[in-house]
Amino acid sequence: MAFADFHTHTIFSDGFGTVEEMVESARAKGMLALGISDHSMTPFDLRYCMRPETNIEAYEPMVREAQKRTRELHNFPVFLGIEWDFGSDIDRERYDYTIGSVHYIIRKNGEIFPVDSQPEKVFGGIEHVFGGNRLDFAKAYFEHVVEHAEKNKPTFMGHFDLLTKHGTVDEDDEAYLAVAREALAETIKHVPLIEVNMGAVIRGLRSVPYPNPKFLPLIHELGGRIILSSDAHAPDKIAFQFPEMLKLLQGAGFTHVSRLTEKGIVEDEINILL
Ligand SMILES: [Zn+2]
Ligand SMILES: [Zn+2]
Repeated sequence: MAFADFHTHTIFSDGFGTVEEMVESARAKGMLALGISDHSMTPFDLRYCMRPETNIEAYEPMVREAQKRTRELHNFPVFLGIEWDFGSDIDRERYDYTIGSVHYIIRKNGEIFPVDSQPEKVFGGIEHVFGGNRLDFAKAYFEHVVEHAEKNKPTFMGHFDLLTKHGTVDEDDEAYLAVAREALAETIKHVPLIEVNMGAVIRGLRSVPYPNPKFLPLIHELGGRIILSSDAHAPDKIAFQFPEMLKLLQGAGFTHVSRLTEKGIVEDEINILL
């Protein structure tokens, strides 16, 4: 399987495998490369992220060691990444790449509520903060996505329309689609690389990836590029359904997908990967 996957989690944040188990799984699948991207520290919610005292400091040397070892022993490239949450401070120089994600709505009054949590918490937040107005919720979410892209310029953007998890918005609603399309166009101006993310499909919450495939032709038209991500939290989920995703991308007009290498981002021809 000549794929590469740069959005994966380990026990350093909310994943279930060690760095070594993830690397071994990627090698066993015959992949071209693996990136580890545990969650940056969100001081307002320590449940899913790397904690400073225990994990952040140990994460970097552990992945660097795996990187060195696998390069020497197997000539297999491992990358040290981080899933950089909006509202979280990181020292980006420490990482080979960053994924820009929004998991929380952060209000100007300091109020914070999760976008990516149990349904009752997400719906409770929409009710409490936006008086139940889901379009306002979508606007607030996408404002964060655009701001994250513009200010921080991560290597690629994570799960562009994560807010749709649990069916919070009607993804056929024209008013919603207009808000999302505008945000997508703004995002691509700052960060042209967008991931196709299988996280919710792996969890059985959605049948389609993030972003909703209906946005793929627009990404293509706007000159955006795609990187495939499993968002795997366990070793066996690395590169989850990548062949199906490549066919989906071809259907939207893409001929290539992007891959991080030690010399920068390269474009792989989908026809050759399949
Ligand atoms: Zn995420
Ligand atoms: Zn993730």
